[in-house]
Amino acid sequence: MNERGIRIPGWAERVAESLGEGPHVVVTGISPSGNIHNLREVLVAEAVANALKARGAEVRFIFHADTIDPLRKIAPGIPESFKEYIGHSLSRVPDPEGCHDSYAEHFLVPFEEALAEMEMDIEVLRSHELYEGGVYTGVIREAIEHTDELRNILQEVSGRQMPEHWSPFLPRAASGKLTGSRVLEHVPEENKVVYVDEDGWEDAADYSKGEGKLGWRVELAARWKALNVTFEPFGKDHTSRGGSTETADRMSSEVFDYPVPGRYEYEWISIKGQGAMSSSKGIVLLPKELLRIMPPDALRKMMLGRDPSRAIELDLAGGFPRFMDEYRAEAGEPYVPFTHLVTVAQTVGEDADAAARMLRRGGYEEAARDRERLARDLYYARNWAEEWAPESMRFRLTDKEESFYNGAQLDDEQREYLREVSGRLEPGMDGEAVQEVLYSTAIERGLKPKRAFAAVYRVLIGKSSGPKAGPFIAGLPRDQVVERFSV
Ligand SMILES: [Zn+2]
Repeated sequence: MNERGIRIPGWAERVAESLGEGPHVVVTGISPSGNIHNLREVLVAEAVANALKARGAEVRFIFHADTIDPLRKIAPGIPESFKEYIGHSLSRVPDPEGCHDSYAEHFLVPFEEALAEMEMDIEVLRSHELYEGGVYTGVIREAIEHTDELRNILQEVSGRQMPEHWSPFLPRAASGKLTGSRVLEHVPEENKVVYVDEDGWEDAADYSKGEGKLGWRVELAARWKALNVTFEPFGKDHTSRGGSTETADRMSSEVFDYPVPGRYEYEWISIKGQGAMSSSKGIVLLPKELLRIMPPDALRKMMLGRDPSRAIELDLAGGFPRFMDEYRAEAGEPYVPFTHLVTVAQTVGEDADAAARMLRRGGYEEAARDRERLARDLYYARNWAEEWAPESMRFRLTDKEESFYNGAQLDDEQREYLREVSGRLEPGMDGEAVQEVLYSTAIERGLKPKRAFAAVYRVLIGKSSGPKAGPFIAGLPRDQVVERFSV
């Protein structure tokens, strides 16, 4: 645990130990070209940053939002008309929905808000501001001066011939496009390049003012130097042979004369029934949506898994209650099965007092005590029931009229059974005792338990099955149950 109560996993401690004393700059970077879902990368970086801090190191923890990156393709749900902006910086493309200042902000802001909700101690930097503020000026000059070496590295690693006029710097043409121009000349004393654009027009771009950017493979290495990065996590796709880290590592040590930062390779997350998370395929779980069904520390646990170097498959439907039970036990939360919270939430709605009474009657005294915590637990349980729960776990308590109508559809045996049960229910019975009454009454009357329980669910929730009947009924006001069972 660190001072904010966030658990530091063993793997992060081992990484921190290998990084040495510091000071450290931990960076994680994401392009806001579509819905940002890659929370795993940020959480890996956070865990390492926390582990470094716990060892007493000075740490700067940066989220580098690649806002100056060109729009490469149209994300799912974005109008086709946005094709005209391909090649333009995301910070200069309009918001497709008109609610933020730019395309970049539209996707970045909700992610930033989720990080704030998680109380993450992270600095969010927008790359277009870093370029405009001159943070990259020195490394850009260095890159342009070493164009030949950088080109050779790219050619050697990729095995592909680079164009003769290849340049590490992409000037922004008057059209707004970062692609398609050719650099002709470097004027280092003015921080400028002279270039010719796609239409043959010659112009100059000032690289100390954000009038262009480094190509992304070069930028990766240049960024390490410009921001003094000492650690950055990468997904497996970047670290494969010929991947972006292979070129960046060589550029960093051979051209920029900067030591390659520490690294952690994390594996992908897939969603049960959907496949690997991918914003281009629209398979995403947004952190903000996930924070509707679980607290920040549960989200940390879920996304990191036991060890983020292993792939995981998330099951937010049927498997989620068990995950929450594990989390709640680890976090020392008062004992009550998540499925029971879901039952309570669906029975009482947002009424925390009624929920507390229901939990007490069900024998979960401790979970009922802290009203604020209970309200929060109910919020998660209710949202999960509405948004993710399997149909079998969803229900709504029927009102008196519906219950009467449903009761009338039952046969005589079932109605007599319910009446007898209502006579045997005593005040203060706990869930197990009620379950025993329900079961033994059915056996004594020669009624198949399945039909007996179906009658119970029919009058209470209008379905033929539902949450475990004993604790559910024990949690309801006895008068209400007696009334519903008097059919
Ligand atoms: Zn927007």
